[in-house]
Amino acid sequence: MQSEEVWKQVIENLRANLPETVIRAWFDDTRIHYIDDQKIVIVTPSELKRDALLKRYQGPISRALYLIFEKNYQIDIIMKDDMPQAPSNDPIEQADNYSFERFVVGPTNELAYAAASSISENPAKGYNPLFIYGGSGLGKTHLLYAVRNRLRERRPDFNVCIFSSEQFTRDLVTAIETGNRAVFHEKYRTADMLIVDDIQFIATKEFVQEEFFHTFNTLHEAGKQIVMTSDRAPKEMKKLEDRLRSRFEWGLVVDIQPPDIETRIAILRSKAMGIGLPLPEQVSTHIAQNITQNVRQLEGIIKKLMAYHDLMGFSISIDTATRAIGDLMKELPGLNPTPDLIIERVCDFYDVNVNDVMSSSRRAKLVQARQISMFLIREITGKSFQEIAEMLNRDHSTVMHSIEKVADQRAEDTNLQNDLKLITENIRSD
Ligand code: ADP
Ligand code: MG
Repeated sequence: MQSEEVWKQVIENLRANLPETVIRAWFDDTRIHYIDDQKIVIVTPSELKRDALLKRYQGPISRALYLIFEKNYQIDIIMKDDMPQAPSNDPIEQADNYSFERFVVGPTNELAYAAASSISENPAKGYNPLFIYGGSGLGKTHLLYAVRNRLRERRPDFNVCIFSSEQFTRDLVTAIETGNRAVFHEKYRTADMLIVDDIQFIATKEFVQEEFFHTFNTLHEAGKQIVMTSDRAPKEMKKLEDRLRSRFEWGLVVDIQPPDIETRIAILRSKAMGIGLPLPEQVSTHIAQNITQNVRQLEGIIKKLMAYHDLMGFSISIDTATRAIGDLMKELPGLNPTPDLIIERVCDFYDVNVNDVMSSSRRAKLVQARQISMFLIREITGKSFQEIAEMLNRDHSTVMHSIEKVADQRAEDTNLQNDLKLITENIRSD
C-alpha cells in the first residue's frame, strides 16, 4: 500500500470517533513522511499541530493503524522544518565550501594536495602549469575550488578564472557566432590564475584546442599560474595536439588514486562529524571496506545514514550501514559491480564464453566483447588502464586504444549506444 493510501485509511478510521472539525483542524495538512513495517513518521506543518498530535491524537492514530495492519506501530510526529535537509547537491553552492581544511589527506592524494595548496600560497612561483589527474569522485574539483576559495579569502583582488572545458567551449562558440571575441579574450586572457576543470573535453575539437593553446601561451608568458584537472594523464589523451600535450607536461603532473582504507575511514569520520552524525568505529570500518573507489560514494553513504538516523530514529550500526550501502547501490546503479561481473554480463550479451574473451583469440566477436568489457569496466569502476590491462591479460596501450575506440564508436553508432545501455542495465540489475 502506498503511504498516501495508508494515511487516507487512517483518517477514515479516525472519522469514526472524532468530529469532522477536529479532523479538519489537525489532520488536513499532515502526511506520512516515512513508513516501514514497524515505524511511521508523520509530518505536520507547524509546532502547534505537532504538539497537539503528540499529546492528544497519538492514541487514536495508533489504534487506527492497528485496525489496518493488525499490529502496533511506533509513531513519530515531526515538523516540516525539522526535516533534516540533505546537504546541498548543487555543485556551485557546494564549491564555495570546498576548502583545504575539509580535504582529508592520505598517501594517494597528498602530492596533489600539497601542490594545490602551495600554488594557492605562491601562485606561479613553483610548478606551472599544475596538472592533476585521476578517476571520478576523488577530489579533483574539490582541490581546484579550495585554491580559488583560499585566494578569494586572502587576496580578494587576485583574479582567478575557474571554469570547465565545456564552459570554455560554449563561450568560444558564442564568441565565434556573435563575431565578438573581445569579451571572450577579456574573460580568459586577463586572469591572474587560470583554473580548468576536466580539461580532457578540450581534446575533442580542433578549434577549441587552437584557442586554448593561445590562451595558455598568453597567460604562461605573462607569468600567470595555470592549473588543470583531467580524468587521465596528458599522454593518455589521444586526440590532444602534441603542442598542448607538451605544455601540459611542462610543470608538474600529479595523479590522485582512490584512497586507502585508513584515509577512507578518516574521510567518513570527517564527513560524519561535519553533519553531526555519530559514527561508531566498526561502522566506519565496515563502510570503508565495502566502498573503495570513490569518495563521492562515501559521502552518499553518510548522507543516507543521517537520513536513517534523523527521520527514522535508527541507531547507526553495521546493519544500518549495510542497508544504506544496499540502498545506495540501488540508487546509484553500478555502484560497486566487480569487473568480473561486468565481463560476465558482457559475455552473456554477446553470447560468448568468458574464458575465450580472456584468451588471445582474435575472433571478431571475442574482440568486440573484450573491448566492450574494458570500456565498461573503466566507465563503471573507474579502474586505471593498467589495472584493466592486468585483469584481462592485455597490455596498457591495447586497453587504452580499445577503450578509446569504443568511446569514439559510441559517439556515432546508435546501435552500440543501445547495446551499452542494455548491458549496463543487466549489470545494474544484479
Ligand atoms: P572529482 O572532481 O575528482 O570527480 P570531486 O572533487 O567532485 O571529485 O569530489 C567528490 C566529492 O568527494 C566531493 O564532495 C568532495 O568534497 C569529496 N572528496 C573527495 N576527496 C576528498 C577528500 N580527500 N577529503 C574530503 N572530501 C573529499
Ligand atoms: Mg570533478
